Amino acid sequence: MSYQHTPYAKPDPYNALQIPIYQSDAFEFNSAEEMEAAFTGKTADHSYSRVSNPTVQFFEERVRSVTEAYSVTALNSGMAAISNTFLTLAKAGSNIVTSTHLFGNTYSFFKSTLGAFGVEARCCDLTNLDDVSAHIDENTCGIFLEIITNPQMEVANLKALSEIAVKAGVPLIADTTIVPFCAWKAKDLGVHIEVVSSTKYISGGATCLGGLIIDYGNFNWDKSPKLKKLASEHGAASFTYLLRKEIHRNLGAYMTPQVAYLQTLGMETLQVRFAKAAGTCLQLANALEQVDGIVSVNYTALNDNPFYELSNAQFGPLPGAMLTFDLESRERCYRFMNHLKLIKRATNLFDNKSLAIHPASTIFGTFTEADRRLMNIKQETIRLSVGLEDLDSLLDDITQSLNTSK
Ligand SMILES: *Cc1c(COP(=O)(O)O)cnc(C)c1O
Repeated sequence: MSYQHTPYAKPDPYNALQIPIYQSDAFEFNSAEEMEAAFTGKTADHSYSRVSNPTVQFFEERVRSVTEAYSVTALNSGMAAISNTFLTLAKAGSNIVTSTHLFGNTYSFFKSTLGAFGVEARCCDLTNLDDVSAHIDENTCGIFLEIITNPQMEVANLKALSEIAVKAGVPLIADTTIVPFCAWKAKDLGVHIEVVSSTKYISGGATCLGGLIIDYGNFNWDKSPKLKKLASEHGAASFTYLLRKEIHRNLGAYMTPQVAYLQTLGMETLQVRFAKAAGTCLQLANALEQVDGIVSVNYTALNDNPFYELSNAQFGPLPGAMLTFDLESRERCYRFMNHLKLIKRATNLFDNKSLAIHPASTIFGTFTEADRRLMNIKQETIRLSVGLEDLDSLLDDITQSLNTSK
């Protein structure tokens, strides 16, 4: 893949083939004039690593060349990517049109953290286009969704949502963590801003947290509640302009050079790791449907899944390396978890090792039962993130655990 050959500024005194880790808070200038130019934005020289850093910039550039984006900003977690995005888009009185089917911290960030500043999260059914339209008004700063919701595995039609969004002058923002950008093109389906927890596939083996904001530069911001003032001067670059010149500096959640280095290594093997893990996930999903004790399996590439066609059209034949399955009760789920030998009891997704979790009692454990019902989080569900082990080893562990935990 050509992006693995992303160049960095030479000469490097040792001709290093891998990007060096520029572990330095600040950068020296040759003159007061150069310093002024950098600080006033006339040049793009690095000055301070909360604002930019050569190693992080190299990682951003590598992601940009895969996604063909206008700009990429790397932050220190997926939540930092989501919070920076919405602090760029929203102001008091704005609303976000979204769903209750969200990653737990994203839901809490919208409802509690942004709610306290007068931003409203309007939850609707994103698979019902009329419902989406009915929730949009002139104060809507974005439509936000996860491309395959976790753990419900719901898929919305991105092209159709993008048409509604563009007509209303509202950007479509997608959290694409579940299916990495090496497998499909969000831009072609009308996504304007993509956010990713690079903690997951990209970190390459669960070594470090990270987040990405990918701006495709394909949106006209002149109706945006907050960005319309900038749009006459900066046009399609308005979002990145405000994010990079103000928001991310003030929030101070930029990626660190050590992390950018590790995630650059992760990027080099992303495609092969993803193909192996997602391929195993599909085979496992098919096999689990025949296993005694499993009530149902949820994976959008299964032929009988209600989102099969849409998922295949949008994300291709391998929609991620995560599946869920239901057992007969919460107690059975606990016994199953406790008898696993190979699969790890852990949160996180897309580690090289397979991970199992009971979402209702953990990720959503502090939510009220009413909120869990609203979010369709069931006590009978196990979530499995498939790693790089062989299919047979995983299937053996699952069946032995089901058999000994009856
Ligand atoms: C993990 C995750 C996040 C949050 O990412 P962090 O890196 O843990 O902050 C957001 N969205 C989705 C879909 C995730 O899986």
